[in-house]
Amino acid sequence: MIIIHKEADITKQTRQLSASGKRIGFVPTMGALHEGHLSLLQEAQQKTDFVVVSIFVNPTQFNDPKDFEKYPVTLETDILKLENAGCDLLFLPDIATIYPKGTKNPEIFELGSLEVLLEGAYRPGHFQGVCQVMHRLLTLVQPDLLFMGEKDFQQCMVVQRLIGLKNLPVKLVTCATLREEDGLAMSSRNMRLQPKERKQAITIFKTMDHLAYALLKKASEPEKLINEAREELLKNGFDPIDYVAIAHPDSLQPYSQKDQQAGLPAVILVAAYLGEVRLIDNVQVP
Ligand code: AMP
Repeated sequence: MIIIHKEADITKQTRQLSASGKRIGFVPTMGALHEGHLSLLQEAQQKTDFVVVSIFVNPTQFNDPKDFEKYPVTLETDILKLENAGCDLLFLPDIATIYPKGTKNPEIFELGSLEVLLEGAYRPGHFQGVCQVMHRLLTLVQPDLLFMGEKDFQQCMVVQRLIGLKNLPVKLVTCATLREEDGLAMSSRNMRLQPKERKQAITIFKTMDHLAYALLKKASEPEKLINEAREELLKNGFDPIDYVAIAHPDSLQPYSQKDQQAGLPAVILVAAYLGEVRLIDNVQVP
């Protein structure tokens, strides 16, 4: 596996590959790699000729500085995992490479309602930070296909919008969420859960699963189902709950009883804290 840190090296490498007709797949990450990240790498390996993974813990997307400080860093094991998984190139930029003009006075991206709904509402500035880092990474790596996880459902929508806004020549491939055996979505943040919290964490998936079934069966109207889900999460130690939402998958606008009667597709999204750890997850209801 090639490891590259510098702008000149990554652009030279990827431009040469493109010129020789190789299709480049790109998996951006913040490290502390788990099987979920590696499943993105595998999908990229199946669909492209050369896979670049990046590790960069992007400070501008952390609205909570404590969360940034505590973000796990496990670079040595990450490198081993990527080598074992057959990754072609690891891009490890430093902050000056991603933000050559510094992080003050950044470009503002027009994200519309995506920026004020759900994650946008609870993490002000987060998606601007995501766009800043993704715009720079995509400009440097210039991949043909970009692989991102459905686990960060709204992030995928934001990046799709960024691609449109900037007319970037890349196609976004969204990949299914990989889960632990008990259903908990794999996440770098899970390693910060205390043993008791780790057991409680499964309630997110169970609650969403139950909610999805009840929505499909039209057992109750969406608002009542949301309230029941919130109570279930509170009972199992989640506090505070940022949101439990049922939304339209193409807009994230709230899903009404009329939508339920019409059998329209929905996505259930949850963000809540267990102790100091904020967990997010979602399931789609066809
Ligand atoms: P992160 O390092 O958390 O920024 O995640 C890097 C990429 O991995 C993002 O596109 C995430 O959506 C994706 N990802 C994180 N967790 C999972 C998971 N459990 N299954 C699939 N993809 C994931």
